[in-house]
Amino acid sequence: MEIKVRRAEPNQMKKKPTDESKLGFGDIFTDHMFLMDYEKGKGWNNPRIEPYRALSLDPAAMVLHYGQEVFEGLKAYRGKDGSLYLFRARDNFVRMNRSAVRVCMPEVDPDFAVEALKKLVLLDKDWVPRSQGTSLYIRPTMIAVEPHLGVRPAYAYLFYIIIGPVGAYYKEGLNPVKIYVEDKYIRAALGGLGEAKTVANYAASLLAAEEAKEKGFTQVLWLDARERKFVEEVGTMNMFFVIGDEVVTAPLTGSILPGITRDSVIRIVKKWGMKMSERSLCIDEVIDAAGKGTLKEAFGTGTAAVISPVGQITYRGNDYIVAGGKMGELSLRLYNEIVSIQYGEKEDPFGWREKIG
Ligand code: PMP
Repeated sequence: MEIKVRRAEPNQMKKKPTDESKLGFGDIFTDHMFLMDYEKGKGWNNPRIEPYRALSLDPAAMVLHYGQEVFEGLKAYRGKDGSLYLFRARDNFVRMNRSAVRVCMPEVDPDFAVEALKKLVLLDKDWVPRSQGTSLYIRPTMIAVEPHLGVRPAYAYLFYIIIGPVGAYYKEGLNPVKIYVEDKYIRAALGGLGEAKTVANYAASLLAAEEAKEKGFTQVLWLDARERKFVEEVGTMNMFFVIGDEVVTAPLTGSILPGITRDSVIRIVKKWGMKMSERSLCIDEVIDAAGKGTLKEAFGTGTAAVISPVGQITYRGNDYIVAGGKMGELSLRLYNEIVSIQYGEKEDPFGWREKIG
């Protein structure tokens, strides 16, 4: 399929941010967006890049009623010499397809989606910020647009990609966060939507996150829905614990998101010859280890922060300090390794980075 491009007229072009230290996250979008339509029986058609604009949706569009929506989150990075890189972009579209299947939505061709993404990023390449730690955030999204109120999968969909510059996640260095172990609310039950990147999971997480924030915590750590016993993931990150000489993360049993950063960390840790386990981890085991001093580090992994060290875990009213409240050695080593691959500063033995400009 040929991707048609309609460039923004000079009067449609937006002012680019001048102070990259004030970029923040998720408020600024570039001049263009990619769109593509789907109709049952016809498949994906009319791929195009157009000036960024508001969508026009029928109030009966099925996404607004039954939540058929999937999305992704990834980034493009600018190296010191001005080169542009993507990191594991195809893997994001493969994950998007798995999410789509779970909520009865059509799959996209991941190679075509990467091609569309590259075209969009290159068209708006002057928007990719230059300061250390900044990047271009990419949000591929798919929604059900058929106007219909009977409950069934829709017959028509829109796939679009919007992009925008985002600030450095860590402005004052990598500060460890405080997390609250959530034992009242749950995010996702086995057999549910937990492993899909779809709106319902985020709606389900908001109240717990707000209540935790009011108590001074950055994120909640979710436990399994049935027993409130096994560690799952935190708000928008997968979780890793270093207990003795073992690095542990929860297995992909269906209720957590299969993070791309999670997979990168597992592969790097194994390559470094350390003991890496994907296994069920009881919250009591974490708390015991914290008490005994064998919990050496805890950290979250995700596209936004890469590695987010945890300095305190609070469970049932008790605070447990991790790694003396500082960033652990492995957390820092992993952060440096992944970031230097993403920004083209180091060789990439895994073939994760793609230079696109
Ligand atoms: N879990 C959830 C619920 C998330 O939203 C994210 C962010 N996409 C992650 C984990 C981390 O995934 P990734 O490493 O692919 O960003």
